[in-house]
Amino acid sequence: MAELLIVVAIIAVLVAVSIPIFINQLEKARRAVCLNERDTMRRAAAMATLTDDIDWTTYHDSAAVIAKLKDMGLIEEFECQSGGTIYADKNSIKAGNVSFRCTYHDDGKKPGDEEENLTGTGSALKNLQDALQDAWESYIKDNDKNNQKNNTAFLQNFFKNNNSEDYLKKEKVSDVLTEDQIEKLAKSMNEKQPGYTETQIRSVLQKYANSELTVAPYVLKDGTIVYYYTEDASRFGTDKTNHSNTSMMYYDGTWYMAPMGSANNLEIGFYPANFNSMLPSKFFEENRWIAVN
Ligand SMILES: [Zn+2]
Repeated sequence: MAELLIVVAIIAVLVAVSIPIFINQLEKARRAVCLNERDTMRRAAAMATLTDDIDWTTYHDSAAVIAKLKDMGLIEEFECQSGGTIYADKNSIKAGNVSFRCTYHDDGKKPGDEEENLTGTGSALKNLQDALQDAWESYIKDNDKNNQKNNTAFLQNFFKNNNSEDYLKKEKVSDVLTEDQIEKLAKSMNEKQPGYTETQIRSVLQKYANSELTVAPYVLKDGTIVYYYTEDASRFGTDKTNHSNTSMMYYDGTWYMAPMGSANNLEIGFYPANFNSMLPSKFFEENRWIAVN
């Protein structure tokens, strides 16, 4: 009996030691497969540049690049076995020399983290982003890509072919502006605009977070789509696709909040959602918008 117990104990120890080693090996193999696949994708993108004259700098984000490569039959669906998401590196797209990264193997994000890391993406925004992605692809295909990056024309076309009610959905701003973020924002707004106490600012932000607003798109000259919260989206769906006023804009993965101005401003949405040809980053800086994160 004692001998049997010793054997069982030894087996238990061996199993305990070998499982982590096995898991480690498995992860090494997954990493290698992921890396290899991304290298294949990178070569496919380079090939498209050489043989099909694809200019990646005209593609506005990773999803557009990947969709195009699939469309051309150069790559297939690939899932990182460690749960990461593969994406085309933004700077590499801008440089026209596309390379691919994995959110798990390169960025060290745990699978499932991504939803959280996309700070401030309510379901209305996601819905609209997905729909506009495809529309933008075909819009670029059908139009002179150098001259037609036109907010009105693109959105008119989109809402002519799609029911605006399906895409211009209202959501609670608190989907994006959480309690924690309100705390942080109140602090930094108070530093930048000492005219209000932190408590006053917090209460205005809280009220704003409780309101239900429509997420609407605005297309910049370079093809980037900025999203913004607006009270008045009624003009979409008609021929008038002008931007309206807003207090929160989503650009390049981040929501930005307008500075306080006067206490009622935030609720009304007092900034027009356009940049008059100014770079969004410059606009936010000059007008003291604050990143919500
Ligand atoms: Zn990976």
